[in-house]
This record gives sequence, C-alpha cells and structure tokens, in this order.
Amino acid sequence: MKCYDCAKNGKEADTSGICIVCGRGVCSSHLIREEIPIIDMKQYSVHLEGKDLDHINKILCNSCHEAIMENVCEVRQ
Ligand SMILES: [Zn+2]
Ligand SMILES: [Zn+2]
Repeated sequence: MKCYDCAKNGKEADTSGICIVCGRGVCSSHLIREEIPIIDMKQYSVHLEGKDLDHINKILCNSCHEAIMENVCEVRQ
C-alpha cells in the first residue's frame, strides 16, 4: 500500500502504518503515533472495545489526528 498523504502530493511512499480511524495507509513521515485519549471510537469507522483498545498501536493520519484533537478540546472545555 502507498501512503495516502504522499499520493495526494504526487509522491510515492510505502506505508509504515495504518490509521486506526480511517484505515488509510500512511508512511513514517505522515503517521502520528501518540497516546491519545480515545473517548468514543463508536463515532468513527472502527469498532474496538475493551481489551482490543489495550493492544492497538494508536497510529493516526494527519487529518484524523486533527479531527480527534479538535474533539478532545471540545470535550475538555
Ligand atoms: Zn507519506
Ligand atoms: Zn485517518
């Protein structure tokens, strides 16, 4: 699979991770791996619960990371 963000910019790069939210492949320079508080995955396209959440690598693409950070900020206000 090729990196979605690189493809958008007319480049080709092999993916080194898969976004847990949208399922796009992203290369190492476009993936974001971070301990993020996943509040309610049900509103996204993946359905993970309980023990599954402990084992996933929280890899996100740029756009999903932005979207989640916005949601987290809204929730915290
Ligand atoms: Zn890329
Ligand atoms: Zn994504």
